[in-house]
This record gives sequence, C-alpha cells and structure tokens, in this order.
Amino acid sequence: MSCLYETHLHTSWASACAQSKGSQYIRYYKELGYSGIIVTDHFYNGNTAIPRNLPWKEWVKQFCRGYEEARNEGERQCFDVFFGWEETFDGCDDYLVYGLDREWLLEHPEVRNWTRGEQYRTVHAAGGCVVQAHPFRQHSYIRRVVLSTGCVDAVEAANATNFDQSYDALAMRYAKKLGLPVTAGSDMHAVQDLICAGAYGICVAEKFRSIDDFVRAVCNNAIDGISIDEGRCDYYGDEKVLLPVDVRDKDDRSTGKSWKDLIECSETSSFRTTSARSKDEKYG
Ligand SMILES: [Zn+2]
Ligand SMILES: [Zn+2]
Repeated sequence: MSCLYETHLHTSWASACAQSKGSQYIRYYKELGYSGIIVTDHFYNGNTAIPRNLPWKEWVKQFCRGYEEARNEGERQCFDVFFGWEETFDGCDDYLVYGLDREWLLEHPEVRNWTRGEQYRTVHAAGGCVVQAHPFRQHSYIRRVVLSTGCVDAVEAANATNFDQSYDALAMRYAKKLGLPVTAGSDMHAVQDLICAGAYGICVAEKFRSIDDFVRAVCNNAIDGISIDEGRCDYYGDEKVLLPVDVRDKDDRSTGKSWKDLIECSETSSFRTTSARSKDEKYG
C-alpha cells in the first residue's frame, strides 16, 4: 500500500491569505485517503498573518500555532501532521523548508535575513531540506520568475493552485533537466478548495514516523511518485514564460542563462505519477 502525503498547506492562523484553521482540514484529508500532511504557512518574508513587529520569540510562537492547532486535532483523529514553512524572496519566489522545528527557530532569529544560499546551506546543515515551490508560476503578484538551480534539494513539479497546467509542465521538465527530485502539493488555503481539488501530494511506500523521514525521502530521491491530475505535467513545447526570468546558481548569483536551456531534455519523464484521487474514490 502506498501512503499519500500533503506537502504544501496553509492555515488561517499564520497565513494571511488562508481561510481555514489547521484543525478544520483534518477530517477532509483523512477522507481523501492521505496518510498525513505537512503544514507550510507563509513565513516571515511572505504573506504571514503574524505581525512582524513582535519580538522574535513571540513571533515564532504565534507562527507555530497554525501548525499546532492542526497537529492537536490530528492527534485526536489519529492523523499525522508535520511542520514546515514557506519562505518568499523579493516577493517573487517561494521555498518550502522542512525538517526544522519551533525550538530551532526560537534560537535562530537570523533566519529572517537569509539569502537563498544561506537558507539552503543552513537548513541543510541543520538536517532539513529546501524545495522550490511552483517555480514557473506566473500569477499577477509575481514580477519575475526566479529559478534557483543550486540552492534547493528538490522542485515542486505540480501545484494544484497553479492557474495554468503549463507551469507544472515546465517545472517537471526543469527538475528532470537539473536531475532534482520532484514533489507535488495542493498549496491548500481553504477546506472548500480541498473538496474541489484533486488529492495532490507525494506517494511513498511506508508511513513517515517524523518529518525527518520526509527529508530523507527528498534528499535520497526516494519519493515513489506524485499524485496529480492526469496530464497535469504533460509538456507540449509551446509553453510560455511571459515574465522576466532570473536563473541563479549555487551561490545565489544571477547567471544570465536562458530558462529555455533548462527545460530541454531528450527523454520523456519516467517518473511515476498517479491520478489524483477524488473524494469519491477513497484510498484503501
Ligand atoms: Zn498564500
Ligand atoms: Zn503556498
């Protein structure tokens, strides 16, 4: 039996754009057949709902409450809830950070001022991982597409809230070209959206005992597959990027390279994708 996990989810307590509390999601994710979820609220430089003028320790405590409400309800319903966050750079590009916890955050106020390179190196050194979220998203609030080729462990190849399928097709090609593992997530902000969306996430053979198992699965490229809508990552060759693109290297420097060179690959993806399950097809 395969286990399905949500990797990208927001709560209204900590994310200004979310509408549902962490506790409200649990029964729906259970009904959809997920084995667990990772709460990834918008972090300090993203669309956080926690006032930035709070002292750091208070900010962290408040930030973690969105996750804690979900975890507490998860405990009541015997459902696993893990912690992560989503940080934003320059209002444009987003990164999912996994494997560090509240105690770690309390001791590291400098996390607020990280560059992408510092984020990657420090998270890695502390035993976590960094995944670039929806790298080819071109929604109206984004001024440029930033492709961080060297400061991530993996790429989110499919995101259920991307408006256009082409963003996911490009992200999948890009990840394959770079040889990076891929993840998928729903980027859920409200329970009612979860009911309509397909069950996006990652599939693994065994249940995660902790977030460390997820980090290992990412870093060892041991994710078995992703659950997405059929055709979601299909590449047609006419995908467009209408925004300026900044391709950055392992030192987080702009390279001036073209994004087109990063999606050319000869072989078609052999990565296993499964159709996202609807609410009616419960997973057994
Ligand atoms: Zn949001
Ligand atoms: Zn998100």
